[in-house]
Amino acid sequence: MKKDTQCVQAGYRPKNGEPRQIPVYQSTTWKYDTSEDMGKLFDLEASGYFYTRLQNPTNDYVAAKIAALEGGTAAMLTSSGQAANFFALFNICECGSHIVCSSSIYGGTFNLIAVTMKKMGIDTTFVSPDASEAELDAAFKDNTRAVFGETIANPALTVLDIEKFAKVAHKHGVPLIVDNTFPTPVNCRPIEWGADIVTHSTTKYMDGHGAAVGGCIVDSGKFDWMAHADKFPGLCTPDDSYHGITYATKFGNAGAFITKCTAQLMRDFGSIQSPQNAFILNLGLESLHVRMPKHVENGQAVAEFLSKNPKVASVTYPGLPQDKYYKIAQKYLPNGGCGVVSFCLKGGRKEAEQFMKSLKLIAIETHVADARSCCLNPATSTHRQLTDKQLEDAGIPAGLIRVSCGLEDKEDLIEDIKQALERL
Ligand SMILES: *Cc1c(COP(=O)(O)O)cnc(C)c1O
Repeated sequence: MKKDTQCVQAGYRPKNGEPRQIPVYQSTTWKYDTSEDMGKLFDLEASGYFYTRLQNPTNDYVAAKIAALEGGTAAMLTSSGQAANFFALFNICECGSHIVCSSSIYGGTFNLIAVTMKKMGIDTTFVSPDASEAELDAAFKDNTRAVFGETIANPALTVLDIEKFAKVAHKHGVPLIVDNTFPTPVNCRPIEWGADIVTHSTTKYMDGHGAAVGGCIVDSGKFDWMAHADKFPGLCTPDDSYHGITYATKFGNAGAFITKCTAQLMRDFGSIQSPQNAFILNLGLESLHVRMPKHVENGQAVAEFLSKNPKVASVTYPGLPQDKYYKIAQKYLPNGGCGVVSFCLKGGRKEAEQFMKSLKLIAIETHVADARSCCLNPATSTHRQLTDKQLEDAGIPAGLIRVSCGLEDKEDLIEDIKQALERL
C-alpha cells in the first residue's frame, strides 16, 4: 500500500461479514474456557487479550496502521505523548543509565528527562541539535543507552539531522529514538534515515481535531539488541517476571522492544490509551494525508506574510529560504514540515498580549496541530514564571508567538493576523 492508502486502510482488514469500521472493544476483560488457555497468554506462549490495562484490539488495529505508516515492525498506543516518550526510554534505561538528548525538545519532554527521570537515577547530557559528529561523540559515556531528538522540535522548530544522530548512536551501540510528532509519517519517516524507535504525541496532527490525548511508540525492528547484550540486559537476559523469557531471542529484533514494553511497562504503569480514544485517533488518521499538505500550505503562507511585515522582528519556519534549517528541511521534509510558525514582534510581552487579544479567528490555546488555528505567547502563559532575561537565555524572547495554522482558508488567517498587527 502507498502512504495515502495506508492512512485509510492499513491495520484493520475486516473478514467476510465483519464491521467495516474498526470496532471499539469497550471491555476491560476477556473470557476463556479453561485456565490453561488463559495461562498461555500470561506466559506469552500464545497471543491474545485478557485485560485492557495491557492490550486492547482496538488499540492494536490503530497501532498497526501507524507502524505501517512509519515503516516499522511493531507499535503500541499509550495514553499520551508523555507516556510514549517515557516508555520508549525507560524500556532500555534504568537507574544508572545515561541518555544523550538534543537540547531542542518539547518542554514536557525536557521536564520528564531532566527532572523526573533524573530522580530515577537516569542522567542526561543535552547536546545542540546542530552539534558536529565530534561534539556528539564527546557526549557519550560507558553507560549511555539511548539518543533522543525531535524531527521538528516543538516550539523551537529546529530540524534534526537524523542521519548524523543515527550514525553516531550506532557507532556507540545504542538506538536513536526520534519524536516525529510535528511532521507525522506523511512528511517524514525517520526510520528511512536510520532512526530505530519513533514516538508520537498522537494528540497533535494524527488526531488533528483537538479531540483525544494519546501517544504511540513504533519500533523499526532494525536494532540488533543481542549484538549489544551487555548494554540491554532487560531485553537480552531472562525476565523473571515472565518465567525466564528472553525477549530478544523469543521475539527477535522485530518484536522484542514492543513486547517487553507492553508486557512489563504497560503491565506495571498502565498508561494505556482508552479504546474509545484509539477509535477517534483512527478517524484522524484516515484523513492525515489530506490534512498535512493543507497545514503546510497555510503555515508557509502565514510565515511568508509575517516575514514581510515591518512590525515583525523575526520569523522561524523551516520552509522559509532564510531560515537556519531551510537546507536540512529540504532534505528531510521535501513536502514541508508542519503548520506551526514562530515569530517575534518588535517590542515584547505587552505587544504580544495586545496582538493576541485582537485576533478574531485564531484562538489563544496551549494546543497545537488542530484543525482550528491557535496561538500562544509562552512569556505570558507556559513560561510566565520566567523574567525577560531568563526567557532570552532559554531562546524564547518575551515577544515570541507560536501560531499553529489550522485548516481554514489561508487568506482568512492572514487577514486576521493583518488586522491584529494594524492595531499595534
Ligand atoms: C505535545 C508533545 C508531546 C507530549 O504529548 P502529550 O500528548 O501532550 O502528552 C511530546 N512531544 C512533542 C513533540 C509534542 O508536541
